[in-house]
Amino acid sequence: MKEAIYCHKCSHEIMKREKLAVAGLLFFLAPYHEECFARELKGPASLFMRNQPVNSAFGTVFAIISFFLLAGVLILTEGYTKLFSVFFVFPIVFRLLAYFLYERYVPR
Ligand SMILES: [Zn+2]
Repeated sequence: MKEAIYCHKCSHEIMKREKLAVAGLLFFLAPYHEECFARELKGPASLFMRNQPVNSAFGTVFAIISFFLLAGVLILTEGYTKLFSVFFVFPIVFRLLAYFLYERYVPR
């Protein structure tokens, strides 16, 4: 199945995976061109945007670290403290969503 992914800023199709930068906004993800992502970071949207694309190497490492922190919190804490684990779920879910929603549709 081929599905085109369009840039959130310039609305052009993103043709290559290396050009794709998935931005993590507050509670949702948006696909950008690498250049458009960099430009958007300088604008007002950056207030709600993380500095690194979710699909960057940093995003992947961050998701892996979050996974271990999540496991740690769930194993080592009791009662209401377990609620803190929610913070570590987001990076993991975002990373997986970035792949399943966008990355897999953009050719290398
Ligand atoms: Zn663009």
